[in-house]
Amino acid sequence: MRPIIAQHNSVSARLNLLDLDRQGLEEYFSKLGEKSFRASQVLQWIHQKGVIDFQQMSNLSQALRDRLQQDTMIHLPELAYDATSADGTRKWLLQLNDGNRIETVYIPEDDRGTLCVSSQVGCALDCSFCSTGRRGFNRNLSTAEIISQVWLATCLIDEEKKPGRKVTNVVLMGMGEPLLNFDNVVRAVRIMMDDFAYGLSKRRVTISTAGVVPAIDRLGDSLDMRLAVSLHAPDNELRNSLVPLNRKYPLQELMAACRRFIDKQNTRSRITFEYVLLDGVNDSDQHARALIQLVKGIPTLMNLIPFNPFENSGYKTSRGKRVECFNKILADAGITTVVRRTRGEDIDAACGQLVGKVEDKSRRYRRFEEPRIGMRT
Ligand code: SAH
Repeated sequence: MRPIIAQHNSVSARLNLLDLDRQGLEEYFSKLGEKSFRASQVLQWIHQKGVIDFQQMSNLSQALRDRLQQDTMIHLPELAYDATSADGTRKWLLQLNDGNRIETVYIPEDDRGTLCVSSQVGCALDCSFCSTGRRGFNRNLSTAEIISQVWLATCLIDEEKKPGRKVTNVVLMGMGEPLLNFDNVVRAVRIMMDDFAYGLSKRRVTISTAGVVPAIDRLGDSLDMRLAVSLHAPDNELRNSLVPLNRKYPLQELMAACRRFIDKQNTRSRITFEYVLLDGVNDSDQHARALIQLVKGIPTLMNLIPFNPFENSGYKTSRGKRVECFNKILADAGITTVVRRTRGEDIDAACGQLVGKVEDKSRRYRRFEEPRIGMRT
């Protein structure tokens, strides 16, 4: 059983052990003259047993417990808000030390429980249909702030005492662009996949990117896990207006990076492509046919996402019939598709609705007082 969290948010210069993966912990213990297996023990205490009080870590010597207590800390964000949707989806608002707030969403299904984790405070990418992007960007999350979301969710779900409920999958699809916070995200994913921590297999951890090409290559060299790529358009002109990052890394380069990524993976795997269907913008039969050409030769899972509307978005959700036609064209061409069911809408927990509370350093929010190119008015 994980303890109820009670702690103070004192900002401290002490090392936060939540920032360290196995390698980091081993280096730390080796400097103390301790054996490397201490890393596994501490990982287990923190992440499997949910113990954050050093004095309870009974297989460490008393001297080591005292040393850890004096030199380090296990510091989690504070829970600011906890909402449960009619469909069982839970959303947590977490307060960070600097006053920023981020959101984490848990989506229970019959055969799994997916945790949607944030990687940044806000997002710098400015995708025109995303509410998170509109609130601007503040900073990257630390490894501790990323893995804390998994720690807290595990603890809070345990408290529900509902059989079968747990975190079986993690998707880095919350606030932010994970590949623009590369090192901290990779370290957190390593903790998620470590057998002495959360032990998630490579098929159960997904990083979603809007297409940061050099980072996709680096990721392929660093980790064996699932990649999701947010496409949203089959040609550069349209994609430039929806995902501004496309001007830097156009579709041809992005698709080439996806092919390289697949080649590097040890096991047979595929890329999840995300495609938000926007009424009259990217959802015609022609768009579907162009999309088939674009992903040709790449093992693909096409995730069709109904647009989740928000105030002044300028976009509308594609109608059911249109989604069906679009889906059928892809399926008839042999592409595996999933139409994502919208979850947690009533608590603003759906894709692109996570806004937290961002002190915007980019002052972007002001710009959205006027409609923009590519948006319907
Ligand atoms: N920056 C990353 C991960 C965060 S967004 C990325 O772009 O992939 C997670 C997914 O939600 C992305 O596919 C994003 O395009 C999608 N999304 C954003 N706003 C949305 C909205 N209003 N409705 C539906 N999906 C949205």
